[in-house]
Amino acid sequence: MTFRSYMDIALDEARAAAARGEVPVGAVIVTPSGAIAARAGNRTRELSDPTAHAEILAIRAACAALGSERLPGHDLYVTLEPCAMCASAIAATRIARLYYGAADPKSGGVAMGARVFSHPQCHHVPEIYDGIAATEAETLLKTFFRDRRSGSE
Ligand SMILES: [Zn+2]
Repeated sequence: MTFRSYMDIALDEARAAAARGEVPVGAVIVTPSGAIAARAGNRTRELSDPTAHAEILAIRAACAALGSERLPGHDLYVTLEPCAMCASAIAATRIARLYYGAADPKSGGVAMGARVFSHPQCHHVPEIYDGIAATEAETLLKTFFRDRRSGSE
């Protein structure tokens, strides 16, 4: 599979999150051999858990499956720029490569905001590839927030 097909799976997770009323963000973790270790979408509302971001849920599942607190050689695909919390988790997990879609001017912690991977305290910096399927990821988010604004709230 190409990096684009993994991002397509992350986009599917984002769409499924939107269908559950969650902010549409999806993530996929891929093993060094190219198998899918975990896939997840945002579940912060469902789980009443502000840390239940797609990346965190995928990292937890992949680590549990591997029986390890680290995922060396693994790649993480996520539809939106990770926040500072998720970027810290990615560093702690020793993810090898991070592929993300849309930039997040509000909460992003990679290219903006806390810039976790540029911080001297950061113990591990993955290779970072941004803008993968960014238009699709952005459209999902914009549609979600537009529909929510025009709803009954
Ligand atoms: Zn996050």
